Amino acid sequence: MKIIELKQDIFRENEVTADGVRKELSDANTLMINVMSSPGSGKTTTLVRTINMLKDKYKIGVMECDIDASVDAETVQKAGAYAIQLHTGGMCHMDAAMTKQGLMELDCKDADLIFIENVGNLVCPAEFDTGAHLNITILSVPEGDDKPAKYPLVYEVSDVVLINKIDAISVFDFDTDKCIERIKACNPKSEVFLLSSKTGEGFEGWISWLEGKLGGR
Ligand code: MG
Ligand code: ZN
Repeated sequence: MKIIELKQDIFRENEVTADGVRKELSDANTLMINVMSSPGSGKTTTLVRTINMLKDKYKIGVMECDIDASVDAETVQKAGAYAIQLHTGGMCHMDAAMTKQGLMELDCKDADLIFIENVGNLVCPAEFDTGAHLNITILSVPEGDDKPAKYPLVYEVSDVVLINKIDAISVFDFDTDKCIERIKACNPKSEVFLLSSKTGEGFEGWISWLEGKLGGR
């Protein structure tokens, strides 16, 4: 009986495409960041504030990936980024081939920074390398401090975790220390920033870390 391990093949092929995308961006001196989270944790709001704080110094592009609608792309475009809306056609994650297609359409050739706002989902986006240089996960306070224990892979592959909506911390039973401990258990090297995209609290740390990664341009 011939057995084909389809999933393995898909991942291997994706890996090759992702490495190609990454190399092309590196050659163009463009940093690409993949942003993941569950729906409603504030990806777009976080991007808007980040864009506002960086747009005078850097050329920024955003690929908004949703199953449908284009409200997020319109929002980030208004904030001053080059934006494109990608409809994943029902797909619940981005892969490297989809990223490649999006980059060709995104009219932002000499960008310093490109964000992929991945589909709101903590499971499969973590399994597919998008070709980004860095992965970020946003965890919002109302979701609970146990998210890293329940969805370890997305935290394992993330270089940075932004704990968002800290302005609401008094309303929720959210243990910050325990949450950070759980994030570090998934990835000890992960950077964690506590912030509020609504009020702007805590953004200095995140922005200066990001500027460090953009250094020298
Ligand atoms: Mg969004
Ligand atoms: Zn998926």
